[in-house]
Amino acid sequence: MYRTHSNGELRLANVGQEVTLAGWVQKSRDKGFMIWVDLRDRYGITQLIFDEERTPKEMVDKAKTLGREFVIQITGEVIERVSKNSNIPTGEVEILVKKLTILNESKTPPFTIEDETDGGDELRMKYRYLDIRRNPVKESLIFRHKVAIEVRKYLSDKDFIEVETPVLIKSTPEGARDFVVPSRMNEGQFYALPQSPQTFKQLLMVGGMDKYFQIVKCFRDEDLRADRQPEFTQIDCEMAFVEQEDILNTFEGLTRHLLKEVNGVEIANFPRMTYDEAMKRFGNDKPDIRFGMEFGELNEVAKHKDFGVFNNADLVVGIAVPGGACYTRKEIDKLIEWVKRPQVGALGMVYVKCNDDGTFKSSVDKFYDQEDLAKWAETTGAKPGDLICVLSGVTDKVRAQLSALRMELATRLGLRDPKVFAPLWVVDFPLLEWDEDTKRYHAMHHPFTSPKPEDMAMLDTEPGKVRANAYDLVLNGNEIGGGSIRIHDKETQALMLSHLGFTPEQAKEQFGFLMNAFEYGAPPHGGLAFGLDRLVAILGGQETIRDFIAFPKNNNGRDVMIDAPSNIDDEQLKELNLKLDL
Ligand code: ASP
Repeated sequence: MYRTHSNGELRLANVGQEVTLAGWVQKSRDKGFMIWVDLRDRYGITQLIFDEERTPKEMVDKAKTLGREFVIQITGEVIERVSKNSNIPTGEVEILVKKLTILNESKTPPFTIEDETDGGDELRMKYRYLDIRRNPVKESLIFRHKVAIEVRKYLSDKDFIEVETPVLIKSTPEGARDFVVPSRMNEGQFYALPQSPQTFKQLLMVGGMDKYFQIVKCFRDEDLRADRQPEFTQIDCEMAFVEQEDILNTFEGLTRHLLKEVNGVEIANFPRMTYDEAMKRFGNDKPDIRFGMEFGELNEVAKHKDFGVFNNADLVVGIAVPGGACYTRKEIDKLIEWVKRPQVGALGMVYVKCNDDGTFKSSVDKFYDQEDLAKWAETTGAKPGDLICVLSGVTDKVRAQLSALRMELATRLGLRDPKVFAPLWVVDFPLLEWDEDTKRYHAMHHPFTSPKPEDMAMLDTEPGKVRANAYDLVLNGNEIGGGSIRIHDKETQALMLSHLGFTPEQAKEQFGFLMNAFEYGAPPHGGLAFGLDRLVAILGGQETIRDFIAFPKNNNGRDVMIDAPSNIDDEQLKELNLKLDL
C-alpha cells in the first residue's frame, strides 16, 4: 500500500497514529539536527519532520539528499506541531518520520512549482505536467470537472441522453475552415473534423432520440485570436418537438443550475433582448449588462447645427461615463487617442463635461449651446459629474467603436466584477449576413437555421432583413452559447442553400444526406451549444481559458510540449497519397 492517507487529510485527531504518505517534495529545510519537508499531492501539503534524536540515522541521511519534486514515501507518527500553521488545513500536525523511501528523483524543475511562479507562458506550456502540479492550474481543472458533472446531472435529470458522434466526417459548416484528415484507404479523399456535431445531432432527432447532449471536442481552423483554441469543447444539445421558448427555458434552467451549484449564486433577472435592441442599446450582440452606460442615439439632437462631422454621419451616439467630468484635459486626450487606435478605429471623439452646477462644457461649444447639450445629457442619461463621450460615423462601425470604449471604461472603473453574473438571451438574430469579400450572403449562424416564418417572404426581396429563430446566451459580455430552431423540411433547406450560393448539385453533394433524412419524417427540432472552456473560465472568474484546459495550444496553434504539428516521413506521405512532386 503506497499510502494510508492523502496529504490534505491529517488533523489533531490523528495524533498518535502511524501513517504512510506519498507525494512530491515541495521544499525542504535542513537545520542540521532537524529537517523539515513539505510533502505535496493533489489534496494538500503535510509537513514531515526528520529529527536526529528520534528518526533513524540512515533515514536522516537520506532526507538530506532530497531535492524539490522528488517523489517519496514515508511512514511515521502524527504528532502535534509546536508552531502551528493556520494557513493550511493540516497545519496543526506534522509527521515524525521513521522510514523514508525515495520512489523517484527529480531534476530541478525549470520554474518554481508554487502559486506564483517565475515561469513564463511558453516554459509553463512546454512543461505543462509540472504546471499542472501548481494550485491555480490544478484547481482550474478540478473546477472544470465540477461544472461538467453539474451539466451532466442537470441534463440527465431532464431526460437528455449523451450520444457520441463521429470525429472523422464530412464538412459541417460553422463559418470556419475545416481541419482535414487524408484517407489512406480512399485515395485522394479526405475526412473533415467536425466544426460541430450539427448535422449528426439533427439526424439523431430524425432518429427519434428526442433530447440529446454531448460534451464534445470541436475543431475549427481559424486564424487564432488571443484566447481561442483550434480544438475546443462544446456542450452540444438538441431537442425535438420544441419551439424557441422551450429551448430558452431549458437552458436558462441549466445556466441557473450551474450558477447556483458551482458559484452559489441565485440569479434574479434573466432578460431577453432582441438583436436589434442589443445593437441599439449596447452596440454589441453580446452586451455586458452588469453596468449601465447605455447608448444614447443623438441624431435628432445633434444634427441640426453647422457641425459637418455629425451632419454627415449615419449615426451620432454617446455614452455617459459616471464621474467622468473630473477627467483632466490630458486624461481625455488619452481617451481620444485610445478610440483612434487602429484596433478601435474611430476618427475622433466629441465630449461633454456635465458640471456639478448643471452647466456643460464641451469640445464643440462653438456649435452647440447649453440647451442642446442638456438634451444630449438627457438622451444619454448623463448626470452632473458625468462625462458624455460621443462618436459618429457609419452605423455598424460607430456602434462597434463606442461599444469597445464602453467596455474599456467599465473595466477601468471596476464595473466588471467577475463575481457578479448577468446572463441574458439575445434573440431574433438576422438569418443572413453580407460578406464584402465574397460579395455574398452568408448564414449568420449556420445554413440549417430556420428563418422566422413571418419573414420568409422577404428572402427574395430583402434577404438582409430576414430574422432567424436564432438565439445566443450571453454572460458578462461573452457569448457562451448559441443555437437555433432548425429547418426540418427538404424544400426550405434547399431554398436556404440556394440563397447561400449553392447550386442544386453542390447542395446535394454536401448535404444530400440531411435533406434525404428530412424526407423520412423529420420532427420539428432545435438546439444550441455552449462553449465549455469559456463558460468554465467565466464561472471561475477568469479572463483566459488556457488554465481550464489541461493541454492547450499556443497562439500559433502549436502544442509546444509534444511539438505538434510536426513533419511526417516520406513513407507515410506516400501511403496517404500525399507525396508532392515538387
Ligand atoms: N452548432 C452550433 C454551433 O456550434 C450550435 C447549434 O446551433 O446548436 O455554434
